[in-house]
Amino acid sequence: MSSLNIGVLALQGDFREHIEATFACGNKATAIRRPDELQGLDGLIFPGGESTTIALLATSYQLFDPIREAIASGLPVYGSCAGMILLADRILDGAAGQKTFGGINMTVRRNAFGRQVESFEEDIDFVGKRVNGVFIRAPWVESVGAGVEVLATASGHPVAVRQGKLLATSFHPELTGDLSVHQYFFDEICR
Ligand code: GLN
Repeated sequence: MSSLNIGVLALQGDFREHIEATFACGNKATAIRRPDELQGLDGLIFPGGESTTIALLATSYQLFDPIREAIASGLPVYGSCAGMILLADRILDGAAGQKTFGGINMTVRRNAFGRQVESFEEDIDFVGKRVNGVFIRAPWVESVGAGVEVLATASGHPVAVRQGKLLATSFHPELTGDLSVHQYFFDEICR
């Protein structure tokens, strides 16, 4: 299978782990820090980290509007944890004035699973596969609107969702070495 050209937003957070997972799946991974680097991508990944910081840095790096436009034009995007928040059309418990790129018709509650010390791991079913979910100050999906498919749940809340070419997980597969979620994004969405 031909290798994909994947960009990983590299402003803050665990972008290195997503770059490694992308390489491990046999694809090319580029750290994205400038608007022109968004050209020619087959897909883009938003890492885990701090959604408020990533949104502020994206604005100062002049990436905010170009990323919104790329999403609107159909670029496949996967976001984990903070990346899920960045893909949400609506957020609860956000910082004052917190902006998201949006794209997925859902309401996401920030830090819903509790604080850093309440981080946990749980096996979850993700599209017919058992994956190890690592949740760190993780959001959950409070509600989804039309067009959103729920791919996994934990504690009764959606924790993996897809809308068209956009995929988001509350958990961090990039920290586990389990490539199932990345492989799903590359094979089912980017190809
Ligand atoms: N709570 C963080 C946020 O609001 C997300 C945490 C994470 O990515 N592990 O961005």
